[in-house]
Amino acid sequence: MIEPHGGKLVNKIATEEEKKEWLNKSKELKSISVTYFDLSELENIATGLFSPLEGFMTKEDYDSVLNNMRLSNGTVWSIPIILSVKKEIADELKVGEDVLIKNQEDSKEYAILHLQEKYERRKEEEALKVYKTQDKAHPGVKFLYEQGEIALGGEITLLNRIEHENFQEFRFDPKDTRKIFSEKGWKTIVAFQTRNPIHRAHEYLQKTALEIVDGLFLNPLVGKTKDEDIPSDVRMKSYEVILDKYYPKERVFLGVFPVNMRYAGPKEAIFHAICRKNYGCTHFIVGRDHAGVGDYYGTYEAQEIFDQFKPEEIGIVPLKFEHAFYCKKCENMATAKTCPHGKEDHVFLSGTKVREMLSKGEKPPKEFTRAEVAEILMEYYMNK
Ligand code: ADP
Repeated sequence: MIEPHGGKLVNKIATEEEKKEWLNKSKELKSISVTYFDLSELENIATGLFSPLEGFMTKEDYDSVLNNMRLSNGTVWSIPIILSVKKEIADELKVGEDVLIKNQEDSKEYAILHLQEKYERRKEEEALKVYKTQDKAHPGVKFLYEQGEIALGGEITLLNRIEHENFQEFRFDPKDTRKIFSEKGWKTIVAFQTRNPIHRAHEYLQKTALEIVDGLFLNPLVGKTKDEDIPSDVRMKSYEVILDKYYPKERVFLGVFPVNMRYAGPKEAIFHAICRKNYGCTHFIVGRDHAGVGDYYGTYEAQEIFDQFKPEEIGIVPLKFEHAFYCKKCENMATAKTCPHGKEDHVFLSGTKVREMLSKGEKPPKEFTRAEVAEILMEYYMNK
């Protein structure tokens, strides 16, 4: 089985005994209340999905990630994982303290932050270096600017898991997927990231990849996405129907990716790949404008960024796919690599175009999306 990023799978989940001890002394600890976004980051650190991170980044790692796309010890890492709060809140906390982290919604205790360092979050610089823009119309940049200005770095101990209301049967930690893949006897596993309902181009990429590996890990993102994106429960429904009818059951495994979307294009592609390596996957699909939004990134920039590293530094192999479409003359799915015909023969619909059709009650063509998925999307748009 492929090694986790950095060599070992991190586990920051308190044992029952540790949890009891922390909760017993919780009244003596200072506490901060955080959002769902931060809680999910905490949990993803604790389960090892973000291995080798053991907590929220300290300044040395933050600087190194922004400037070199590496942690300070040299390990490749492209996205800052930061807990930041308002200055007034940070001023109350002392470096060296254990700080209780609560959910701002219900005040439930989730974790302990072993506060190692407080430092300024340089938002303008972070925007430019991670997102390549300071435009507030970019959803990742907009979110970044809404965060507190002081970062709290340090290791964490998770006391409680988030109580999710959905996708219970599709939630797996990296230690679970590693066990499952190994029980299935899969040696090579390709992961597929998506934040959209499945369409024919996705299916083409997944099945083409499946021709050369043992198993496919379908891993739709269900963390925070921007408001215009189709909600995760609708997307998951589209995956379930399609898997049932068109995929070989014994070679596909569906599990959700409980990570927040950043829309950071190339840098997020590296981050997405590393997380999937932690799940135990050996290959990762990177298609056209992976994790992009608007026209902030070049069509294949999320593929090219992998070339900046030695393959062994990333570990998981990116499977790079060109823009895929249905060709009426070929009468199948293809890309410019396999189809000689012109654009006029190709069926390709942008996300915006599809949303437009759906909101008018029009069914997208079967060359674009399977009829079963079109039904689910139409139903969602009708009830919206
Ligand atoms: P994301 O924003 O997470 O990349 P998508 O669901 O749009 O979400 O895409 C999932 C994956 O499929 C990405 O790797 C993307 O590059 C790829 N992809 C989506 N549509 C196409 C297409 N028509 N041709 C090639 N790759 C595609």
